[in-house]
Amino acid sequence: MAGTGLRTDKIWIDGNFVSYDEANVHILTHSLHYGLAVFEGMRCYKTDDGRSAMFRAPEHIRRLFDSALIVEMEIPFTQEKIVKVCAETVRLNKLAECYIRPLVFFGEGEMGLGARGNKVRVAVAVWPWGAYLGEESIRRGARLKTSSYVRFHHNSLMAYAKATGHYVNSILAAYEARRCGYDEALLLDVEGFVAEGSGENFFIIRDGVVKTPPLTSCLPGITRDAVIKILNDESIAVVEQHFPRDAVYIADEAFMCGTAAEVTPVRELDDRKIGTGSPGPITRKLQETFQAALHGRDPRYRSWLTYI
Ligand code: PMP
Repeated sequence: MAGTGLRTDKIWIDGNFVSYDEANVHILTHSLHYGLAVFEGMRCYKTDDGRSAMFRAPEHIRRLFDSALIVEMEIPFTQEKIVKVCAETVRLNKLAECYIRPLVFFGEGEMGLGARGNKVRVAVAVWPWGAYLGEESIRRGARLKTSSYVRFHHNSLMAYAKATGHYVNSILAAYEARRCGYDEALLLDVEGFVAEGSGENFFIIRDGVVKTPPLTSCLPGITRDAVIKILNDESIAVVEQHFPRDAVYIADEAFMCGTAAEVTPVRELDDRKIGTGSPGPITRKLQETFQAALHGRDPRYRSWLTYI
């Protein structure tokens, strides 16, 4: 497993910590066959006082339970217990900073789409994970391509749920964009309006007005919510509104945000420069405040941290 960077000491599964090599599932695990599982991605950061803290852990775990409810899975633990397990998994693996992955899936037993009796299994793993779209994207801005894949309609797949199967759409879009030499895909919704990245929410800024697509076209991102609060605290209003891709071409600034990508400026869409082609002032300031919040440097956002 050398080189994957995923190997840690312990993984929590169904109530117990086991070693990395013991955290296995049967080949007839239901979720493996039909792509129905729900998951979260959250991060833990080292704060300025030397402690580590998970960012918005209760909100992430609430979304995990919302996702499960939407797809009719009953999680056999409480939200509070899963938050505690996440902290404990970080602690046991002695990681000051890491990515945290809770996963809820149907185990083996019955097969077929109608199977309802299989055990709902829950796991939490952690691993070190750096800048998702690369350090260069964080610094200079990412280059995006409008995807040929349309972001699924919320009546096809339930868009509020962070379900594993939804990510076939994201993965195809990400493959295409990267194969064509771009950092990330920008997916449009079924009506042709801008939706989101393969794993990030999307924002544009023009004349000081910040716009982001409404939740009918994207995942209810926890970073998206944090960004809206931070901007509002700076007296910058955020309008949740549909906009077409040419609104991006004429924007002064654009950025993506997500747990993995944090706040990543966008410098190009479809080989067209956005604004000056460098991260703009509102995006820069937002990146700074967001980093301060993550690392416990801004008292306004201390309540977003769950210390390990
Ligand atoms: N959209 C998609 C499709 C995602 O996968 C993610 C990552 N979970 C996001 C947006 C951002 O959400 P969050 O800020 O909660 O990580």
